[in-house]
Amino acid sequence: MRKKEKIFPSLHKKKRKKRKEVWMFKTATKAFFGLTCGSFAYLTYNAYAFDKDDERRKLPKESWSNLERPLRLRSEMFSQVLEFEKRERASRHLKRGKRRRKSGDDREEEEDKDKEEECEFDLLVVGGGATGAGVALDAQTRGLRTIVVEREDFGSGTSSKSTKLAHGGVRYLEKAVFNLDIGQLKLVFEALRERKVLLQNAPHLSQVLMIATPCYEWYEVPYYWVGMKAYDVVAGTSQLTFSSFMSKTRTIQEFPTIAKRKLQIDDEDLLNKIKKRDAVDEILSTEEPTLGKSLKGSILYSDGQFDDARLNVALAVTAAHAGAIVLNHTSVISLIKDDDSQSKKVIGAVIRDEETGKTYKVHAKCVVNCAGPFADEVRAMDDPDIETDKNKKMVSPSLGAHVVLPKYYVPEKFGMIIPKTKDGRVVFLLPWLDHAVAGTTDIALKPGEKTPQNPKATGDEVDYILETIAPYLALRPHRAEVLSVWSGARPLAKDPTKTNSSDLSRDHVIVKETPSDVIVVAGGKWTTYRLMAEETVDLVLETLIESSPSFAKNQLKNIKPCRTSNMGVVGAHGHKDSLSAAVAQSGGEGFGGSNPDPDVSRHLAKSYGDRAMAVASLASFAKLEKRLHPNVPVIEAEVVYAARAEFCRSASDFLARRSRMAFLDIKASEMALERVIELLGRELKWGWRKRREERKKTKEFLKSFRAT
Ligand SMILES: Cc1cc2nc3c(=O)[nH]c(=O)nc-3n(C[C@H](O)[C@H](O)[C@H](O)COP(=O)(O)OP(=O)(O)OC[C@H]3O[C@@H](n4cnc5c(N)ncnc54)[C@H](O)[C@@H]3O)c2cc1C
Repeated sequence: MRKKEKIFPSLHKKKRKKRKEVWMFKTATKAFFGLTCGSFAYLTYNAYAFDKDDERRKLPKESWSNLERPLRLRSEMFSQVLEFEKRERASRHLKRGKRRRKSGDDREEEEDKDKEEECEFDLLVVGGGATGAGVALDAQTRGLRTIVVEREDFGSGTSSKSTKLAHGGVRYLEKAVFNLDIGQLKLVFEALRERKVLLQNAPHLSQVLMIATPCYEWYEVPYYWVGMKAYDVVAGTSQLTFSSFMSKTRTIQEFPTIAKRKLQIDDEDLLNKIKKRDAVDEILSTEEPTLGKSLKGSILYSDGQFDDARLNVALAVTAAHAGAIVLNHTSVISLIKDDDSQSKKVIGAVIRDEETGKTYKVHAKCVVNCAGPFADEVRAMDDPDIETDKNKKMVSPSLGAHVVLPKYYVPEKFGMIIPKTKDGRVVFLLPWLDHAVAGTTDIALKPGEKTPQNPKATGDEVDYILETIAPYLALRPHRAEVLSVWSGARPLAKDPTKTNSSDLSRDHVIVKETPSDVIVVAGGKWTTYRLMAEETVDLVLETLIESSPSFAKNQLKNIKPCRTSNMGVVGAHGHKDSLSAAVAQSGGEGFGGSNPDPDVSRHLAKSYGDRAMAVASLASFAKLEKRLHPNVPVIEAEVVYAARAEFCRSASDFLARRSRMAFLDIKASEMALERVIELLGRELKWGWRKRREERKKTKEFLKSFRAT
């Protein structure tokens, strides 16, 4: 053979070429076949999973029936707290007397323990943000007697000021891949699973949102495509829709305001100009650039979007329907330690009703600190050193701002992610409640600086956001178009038992402190609030079994497993896609003889789910069908409904968290304030002095939605 090849080298060359061709053909066929089969299997599996998940999105009818239980009034809840306080005092008195007499009658001791159970709560939750409301709902529905206290309003902290995305975080996935960080990958995986649960449990308050990643360089197309496909794969059966490439033409069709050419933000000259504040408007007002990289297309992916504050309120209301004591405008002012033993265990807290100034002693078998960015302030009530010793702190907050623009900046169903800002982060431009929301910034608090209760966004932050989105838009956003601005404190958490500062990157931390036995939950994401709550209540139960023999003996048998992964919040059960049409149809008589306009009925269906009919009937019955301001579809009846069924106690509760008017349009909110006070005042029986106070306080509060 060799000889032959040597004699006829050209023949050999031909043969080799042919063999090579055959090999290449075979390999290509195999690869093609493999890829086709693989893609087919993948698509079939996902399509099946998606269908199955779609079925799962429908809540089973029997999943929650306690919602029919009437909501207790605030005064009734305080009466129960007072009743428990009196019984607790009596029982302690009795116990001390018994100890003195040293009587050993077993039956009497047994009776005492039963009384003890009726005079204390199983769980006291401090803070009514997403985490606290989630913990309260989980605990109460497992069978723990729960009380949650919130010093301002449900969601008044960070939980109303998020980007409103139920997401795993594409950025976190990128980090996980580049740093080969399995822990981070697990967090993305968990968050994607929880994203689906959130969409399922609050279908009226959430939806799937398509987000486009614009590509202005060819290399960005495969890079982001692979990234988004990886996001699909990690989501697995919790996937919402498949990510895909959109051509330039389709991107412009779907997102008409996207820039066809991107202004070169990395240009040194431009950057220097932008840094000068007074040059910002000049740059932002330039026509759509004719220079710069042209749009190559975009990668489309989906995430969940939701109304954060309304979901927070819905969680609190659902917990209350389940039997929990749910008190907003009530602060924990100090913790109660066990005087009778040496254990230094925290056995409750002194709470203050911020409306009346009255204080109450609440005893609980377990206390959970869900104060978010203020967790260290509550911890300092037990150990004052925490205030000054930074090594003992658990939370290091940073502030993040968002800007609201008119809705013409984004199409109704598409958002945009700017995957790399000049400081290496991501910024979103998203449609939300008929407006466009852009954000966020990330500004660390100075060492020793206290977390502000109502942070304000600065003018620099507004400029930063506008400058960042401007190159990606065909329109130049102006400061004058900004309708509202808000800022929230990110509660980045670290485990105080670990010294490594890189532990800050961990998503959420749940620790039981010694010797107090107080459980602290900090950090995390809105998306994972339910999972955090489940893990926390598991730890609460462990603690109760260890520390309370009476609980282990008498109550444990009645405790149910966690049920929140399939538990719709109030409004979820009768929710259906045609609800807005049904509201429009049913509201006909009251709404001035004509049907409510489509914006109003859509708004009612999206905000209240199956309770929208109740709001519409109230509007018809009480003749409260007028909009509070022509620019927003919020009607007067909502103020009354919020006071009766959603624990709304102040004008800012309504303007910021029952309706989202303050977040969407600050001028409209200021103009609606008087009518809100009038309606709320009538409902809550406010005198003129209280109304005057409320007016002053709310005007001051609304200023926090303007940049400083
Ligand atoms: C700018 C920004 C954007 C974000 N975007 C997203 C997003 O898109 N998706 C997502 O999943 N997550 C997002 N997050 C994270 C998410 O918003 C937070 O993780 C979550 O809201 C934290 O909830 P929380 O209940 O722990 O804290 P908070 O909501 O701050 O609640 C703590 C509550 O405790 C109360 N409190 C404090 N002290 C006391 C006391 N002594 N007595 C009684 N009550 C007290 C406070 O008043 C407060 O209401 C974002 C965060 C920020 C800052």
